[in-house]
Amino acid sequence: MITGVVPDRVLFLMLDGLGDRPSRELGLMTPLQAARKVALDLIASEGMTGLLDPYAPGVPVGSDTGHLSILGYDPKVYYTGRGPLEALGAGIDLKPGDVAFRVNMATVDDDWNLLDRRAGRISTGEARELARAVAELAERFDSTLSFEFHSTVEHRGVLVIRGEKASSSVTDVDPHREGVRVQMPRPTDGSESARVTAQELTRFLLRAKEVLDRHPLNVARRQRGLNPANALLPRGAGVMPKLPSLRERYGVRSVVIAGGALYRGVCRAAGMDVRLVPTATGTLNTDLRAKFEAAVESLRSYELVFLHIKGTDTASHDLNPSAKRDFIERIDRELHRHLDSILSGSVICVTGDHTTSSLDGRHHGDPVPLAVAGEGVRRDDVAKFDELSCSRGSVGRVRGLDLMNVLMDLIGRVEMYGE
Ligand code: ZN
Ligand code: ZN
Repeated sequence: MITGVVPDRVLFLMLDGLGDRPSRELGLMTPLQAARKVALDLIASEGMTGLLDPYAPGVPVGSDTGHLSILGYDPKVYYTGRGPLEALGAGIDLKPGDVAFRVNMATVDDDWNLLDRRAGRISTGEARELARAVAELAERFDSTLSFEFHSTVEHRGVLVIRGEKASSSVTDVDPHREGVRVQMPRPTDGSESARVTAQELTRFLLRAKEVLDRHPLNVARRQRGLNPANALLPRGAGVMPKLPSLRERYGVRSVVIAGGALYRGVCRAAGMDVRLVPTATGTLNTDLRAKFEAAVESLRSYELVFLHIKGTDTASHDLNPSAKRDFIERIDRELHRHLDSILSGSVICVTGDHTTSSLDGRHHGDPVPLAVAGEGVRRDDVAKFDELSCSRGSVGRVRGLDLMNVLMDLIGRVEMYGE
């Protein structure tokens, strides 16, 4: 399989929430252990394996902090909230200092009691139309701060606030559960900018509700017995951080292929280009074939190709270890079609951004399996890719923050420390 060509590029295959715990449904195996997977096992047997602590042993991480860490950015330094990463992923250009929120378009009653966090599962098309009305409001909104709103998928969207007095030190407006009254944002520190942001955001949200309540699309939804999307509920405020790019750190050109906005956002923050695959959905029925084809083709023009696949995590959140096993098998079949071509000239790394247990549907701090193969990569005697087999591998246990150095050094992109 490995061809003698010295590799000068890396394909990073990130399987979200890959690690798991053994379940009775799978005969006390994890989905990875239970899956039949030719290509993934081949990578393990031809290369080196180990366990990866995305951040630190026993610390469960979100996809946001897990990805930052694995790309080499300490979340303690660079993570300010999920908002900016979602906004970048939605294609919005942010400058350092811009404040961004994730937003749910939701249904509230006249007293702002939250009735439906997803506004009757409103379609992406309808949400876009409503978002246009909010965008017009933002344009004529008289304030010391400027507002920008975009809807993304279904009821989800992002809100960006810019200006000298923009601050991320405000409380979430989204109460995260239905049946309670929505509280307007409050400052979480004593700064003038937090006070101004809370005050202006409150005004904006109240005006947005007026606009949305009387929007013909919502009037029609009510007539059809559907919940209107009549309120914006921001959460996850963060200020856009300044990250040293992968090009600055390693001199590589890099690109991300991902269905979910968050993953594109984290990678854009790291300076990666985005390659869109229109049929990549970020769900279990994503177009794996198109994603792998795009990834392999991108290896021609980039030294680092980051291919993110979300369905593994989704199956765990659905408490469905069998679906996760089946999805891993599908990934494996698509990967297998390209493995020879990937291994001629590239290093491939496969791992996950955290463990997601399909027993309780939660993220956990268990380490995730890691396998790296390519010309010149040490071979250990592990021949299977799963949580237990990889624990016997030659890499041992590595921190997410160190992984990018390990990979970039394999292709000669890390400067020597000392003389
Ligand atoms: Zn994740
Ligand atoms: Zn998850």
